[in-house]
Amino acid sequence: MTAVRPSSPVLLGMPALPTSPRGTGHLRGDESFPDAARRSLTDTQLRRNLGKATRTIRGKRAAVVAELPDWEALREAGRQLKVHTMAHLPDYLVQLEEAVTARGGVVHWARDAEEANRIVVDLVRAAGADEVVKVKSMATQEIALNEALEAAGIAAFETDLAELIVQLGHDKPSHILVPAIHRNRAEIREIFLREMADVDPELSDEPAALAAAARRHLRRKFLSAKVAVSGANFAVAETGTLAVVESEGNGRMCLTLPETLITVMGIEKLVPRAQDLEVFLQLLPRSSTGERMNPYTSMWTGVTPGDGPQAFHLVLLDNGRTAVLSDAQGRDALNCIRCSACLNVCPVYERAGGHAYGSVYPGPIGAILSPQLTGIEDNASLPYASSLCGACYDVCPVKIDIPSILVHLRAEHTETYAAEHRVPSAEATAMAAAAWVMRNPTRWTLALRSGRLGRVLGRRRGVIGEVPLPVASQWTATRDLSRPPQQTFRDWWAAEHASAAPEPDGPGADGPGADGSEGAP
Ligand code: SF4
Repeated sequence: MTAVRPSSPVLLGMPALPTSPRGTGHLRGDESFPDAARRSLTDTQLRRNLGKATRTIRGKRAAVVAELPDWEALREAGRQLKVHTMAHLPDYLVQLEEAVTARGGVVHWARDAEEANRIVVDLVRAAGADEVVKVKSMATQEIALNEALEAAGIAAFETDLAELIVQLGHDKPSHILVPAIHRNRAEIREIFLREMADVDPELSDEPAALAAAARRHLRRKFLSAKVAVSGANFAVAETGTLAVVESEGNGRMCLTLPETLITVMGIEKLVPRAQDLEVFLQLLPRSSTGERMNPYTSMWTGVTPGDGPQAFHLVLLDNGRTAVLSDAQGRDALNCIRCSACLNVCPVYERAGGHAYGSVYPGPIGAILSPQLTGIEDNASLPYASSLCGACYDVCPVKIDIPSILVHLRAEHTETYAAEHRVPSAEATAMAAAAWVMRNPTRWTLALRSGRLGRVLGRRRGVIGEVPLPVASQWTATRDLSRPPQQTFRDWWAAEHASAAPEPDGPGADGPGADGSEGAP
């Protein structure tokens, strides 16, 4: 049974909105973030690959963003368009369905991953196909479509170079935009030699040679596949137009050559008017690949007789999105345009890598989106996978305040835990004790003075290392604490102002009324 989300604005007597069901899809990891991250932190090759790649993309992004004098105005326009769209999402979705249908497409509504997979499998079978070519798509990764197709005896071929590397390596994606960012070119060459039957054994690890090998490998698939499956970067409600932006041209091949095109799209990918694309097509490439414009932008509207796929199906995927939309504080996560800029600046992502997040959505956006799609109880460690430094907020092209949503989700997790457990967690006990101490000036002063005992612990190294006490050990296992000073600020103040006003912790400070919460009637 889905647990009630305490801070979700579900009306009295109304059931909680469904989150993504367990057992299907790639939104949940097998272990918590700290456990998975601890292992990846020991992988020096992974950290080298990640550091090099994210540094390069960061530099490119900063250069092209600096070229635009109206970048901040563009970000604000993007934010406002998204906020407006989410506020009117039901209306725009109906408008989209009408526009797609009027132009010869068929719209399918999928409540969750299972339903979406079933719809796609049935459509491929109805087209008489046993294989499909795929355009890179986060939505189909989210619902584990490839696995569902395989179980139904249908082979899915990823055509994006990075997705192909992940697929051939029997691996998982670790980045939204560059799913194989954790691999270097020597590793990719090994995968190609091992997995591609038609590859030249003399293949070098030069990027151009690797790309050419992938192109040769995929060419026959492009020409023979009867069905293609894609995601969508944007859908225009007023015209029913779908848009995919990409860098390699593989998407263009999939979107134009097969007889049937099936697009799986999260319901949040809408923009109201075609004109709105003007804003997002400037924000997206600069934020994602650090380019002024992406090389390929494909748009299609329904079907056109004699030109391109003659059957078009649009699968609109909820899978927990309505539940996210119901949370006024968390819903901005749906504004994400999947540029991955927040991943590339995140110090936690750069060190831990994408697999540690357990979900197809890694990094800062994953830390706020995955727990909301699944319900906080299934991804409880993710809102804590952040230093709250705010770098993600600074670069987000649609100004999603990720740190505030992280704090909101941490509060939701704490409330959920408290509602489900009679015994408070060690952290909650420590926080309650801290609150009790801070409510009273005398207790607070005594605590500060006793803190000076810490000088003994930090005598040797000048900092306090691991303290083998409950709660304290969790903090100090990965952090050094500064050695407390000889004199507290309060002691210094009392000494400096001995003849002036009464000391803040002087007589009477602890009497009735000094503590508002205890002295109040
Ligand atoms: S949260 Fe913002 S920066 Fe991160 S992927 Fe989404 S749009 Fe890009």
